[in-house]
Amino acid sequence: MTHRASNLILIGIVAGIICAGVSLLIFGERMRSVAFLGEFFLKSLRMIVVPLVLASIIVGITGLGDVRRLGSVGLRTLLYYTITTCIAVGIGIVVVSIFEPGVGVATEGIQTPEGIQEKAQLGWREIVLSFVSNNIFASTAEMDILPIIVFALIFGGVLTTLGEKGKPVIAFFEGVNEAIMKMVHLIMWIAPIGVFGLVASKFATQHWGTMIASLGWYMTTVLVGLAIHGLVVLPILCLVLGRRNPVSHFAAMTPAILTAWSTASSSATLPLTIDCAEDRAGIGNRAAGFVLPLGATVNMDGTALYESVAAIFIAQAYGIELPFGQVVLIFVTATLASIGAAGIPQAGLFTMVIVLTAVKLPLEGVGLLLAVDWFLDRFRTAINVWGDSVGAAYIDRVTNSDPQATAPGASGS
Ligand code: ASP
Repeated sequence: MTHRASNLILIGIVAGIICAGVSLLIFGERMRSVAFLGEFFLKSLRMIVVPLVLASIIVGITGLGDVRRLGSVGLRTLLYYTITTCIAVGIGIVVVSIFEPGVGVATEGIQTPEGIQEKAQLGWREIVLSFVSNNIFASTAEMDILPIIVFALIFGGVLTTLGEKGKPVIAFFEGVNEAIMKMVHLIMWIAPIGVFGLVASKFATQHWGTMIASLGWYMTTVLVGLAIHGLVVLPILCLVLGRRNPVSHFAAMTPAILTAWSTASSSATLPLTIDCAEDRAGIGNRAAGFVLPLGATVNMDGTALYESVAAIFIAQAYGIELPFGQVVLIFVTATLASIGAAGIPQAGLFTMVIVLTAVKLPLEGVGLLLAVDWFLDRFRTAINVWGDSVGAAYIDRVTNSDPQATAPGASGS
């Protein structure tokens, strides 16, 4: 994808926000009608996510050359995911404890949002079980990405052990991968319009005054936490682990990060994340091919940070003191809840039930956050995608500095 295309997305977003502001004054709620433009763009992206995840992971894994190498690369990837998620949760806990946005917030008459009660049953066993599925074809039909990733990881790994017999299958998936990436380039041409539709329709129909008056300080707290993680921690990791200039890496990832912000969905943004990482940031598809799809579903720094802030905010609002042990429990469950959240809009709001149930905080507290969640979701999704791209830069550096990485079959950089 060219820089011109990414500039168009930026213009699309800015135009969307300006139009939303103007339409609030002139057209009011009528701006809702441009929502279908955004929906068309989102559906086009979602349409290619499943074949992309399958092909890119299989190509990435087989590109490693030898399935035994998957162990060290996989371990590093998981370590990166875990450590960055823990740092994010830690930042969230510190920021919310300093800002205390929940103190004095009115809680009377707040209702538990619908569907939240069932999520209360979601424990670590359910999360582990969600890694596999009864039927991989049903999972693809339902866009249940996690089991598809696990299937592709194993399938790709097994292919590398088949010798000659595996080669045509690998070549097939390499072709599929390239074709899908070309489709991503085509979809990018409608991105500015799509992003405009998504942003304009949503921003024009909100009650900003009420949102800011009641939850402005809470929003500030979440945004400050995300800014520290996204603008300080991740750039340092990009420099230290990825040995890349964080500013140019960020610039390369801008179209994906802006799309994440506009769609509030890491999964829908995935085609662009892979495209920006490979074409603009120069990350080989051995790394990008599996770090990014996996990251889009399990590595969510922004979501993890938000879960810890939101849980402690609810405790503050209900005047519940949290002893140190409970804070540790929030730390652990916020990490789990971010892993359990799907890469779709507001998934984090629902998996927060895991955290609230563990520390016995009132579930109706989620109702407190509902009015502003759509807005904060955009920022945490952008951080989720940015965090994944830094992870891909790190794994790319590791695979490139390893001489075995150039094993036959490697189709990456
Ligand atoms: N919308 C987020 C994502 O797709 C998940 C969440 O935090 O709700 O990454």
